[in-house]
Amino acid sequence: MGEAGATLFTDGRYRTQATSEVAAARVAIVRKAPALAAAEWMASGKGRERGKKTLGFEAESTSAAMRDRIAEAVSSKLRLRAAPPLVERARMVKDADEIRSIRRAVEMGANLFSTALKTIRPGVREVEVAAAMEYQARRRGAEGMSFSTIIASGTRSAVIHGRASEATIAPRGFVVCDFGVILAGYCSDRTRTVHVGTVVRESRRMYQAVLEAQQAAIAAVRPGVGVAEIDAAARKILRKSKLARYFTHSTGHGLGLEIHEAPRVAAGQTQELEPGMVITIEPGAYIPGEQGVRIEDVVVVCSSGCEVLTPTDKELIIVD
Ligand code: ZN
Ligand code: ZN
Repeated sequence: MGEAGATLFTDGRYRTQATSEVAAARVAIVRKAPALAAAEWMASGKGRERGKKTLGFEAESTSAAMRDRIAEAVSSKLRLRAAPPLVERARMVKDADEIRSIRRAVEMGANLFSTALKTIRPGVREVEVAAAMEYQARRRGAEGMSFSTIIASGTRSAVIHGRASEATIAPRGFVVCDFGVILAGYCSDRTRTVHVGTVVRESRRMYQAVLEAQQAAIAAVRPGVGVAEIDAAARKILRKSKLARYFTHSTGHGLGLEIHEAPRVAAGQTQELEPGMVITIEPGAYIPGEQGVRIEDVVVVCSSGCEVLTPTDKELIIVD
C-alpha cells in the first residue's frame, strides 16, 4: 500500500486474471517472487513514505526461507515485523453475499450425503464412496473438494482425520463421513456418522451423547458469547456420559474462502461471536481401536441466536 493506494504484485502466470479481477489496486507483474519484489519496491522509496519504514508480513503464511530472503534484500532500509492478522480478522464476519455463497456450498453437501448413503455397503472400499461423492460434486459445478474427503469405517472411525482409504467398509460399525465442496470460491464442511449393521447399546449411547453435545453447542451460539463457552457447552454434555476425554479436538472453526478460518471455537480462545460469523459445530468422541462418532453442521450467527445452514436431520441412520 503506497500513499496513492494499493499495488498487487504477481507474476506473469496471473497477468490476465489479475487485470480482469483486481479492481481496487494497481497490478505489477514481476519476474521474481512477488513478496520479495514488493519488499524491494517499498525499500526503494517508491512508496514515498519517509524514515525507516516497517514492512509487515503475514507470519502464518510466510515461510522462514522467504522471510530470510526478504530480510537479506531489504533489512538495511526496512524493519520487518509479523503483521497482526488483519485480513483474517476482517474475514471473520461475512456479508450477505458471502453467506449466500456459503449456503449454496452447504446445500450441495447435502446432496453428496445422499450419494454417500447409496454407496456405503459392507465390502465397498472407502475410496469408492469418496469417489462417488466427488464425481457428483464436480458434475454439479463444484471447483473441487474443500479438503480430502474423510470416509472412516469400523475401527478407523476413531481416526479423527481418517481420509478415505483402500480399506473396505466393515460389516458392522460406524462410518464417519466428513466432506465439503468449494463452490464459487466458498467452502462447505459437514460430517455425518452412519452405522452399518446392528447397533449395540453402547454405540447408540455414544452417538446420542455426541448429538446432544452438538445440539447444546448450537443452542449456545449467539452474539456476545465467547467461543470458549460454545466449546464448553459441548464438553459438558460429553462429560456426563464419560466421553469428554475422547473428545480430543476443538468444537469448531470459521469457514469461508478457506476451510479453516478464524475464529477457532476452542477452550482458551477469547473471541466473542458477532452476527455474520460462520462457524462449524463438530464435537466428536473417538475411542482408539474401537469406534468414533462426529457430527458437524455449519451455522451462521444471527442478531439473536444462530441459523443452522446444514439441512437434514441427525438421527442415527442405519445402513444394512
Ligand atoms: Zn468437517
Ligand atoms: Zn470442520
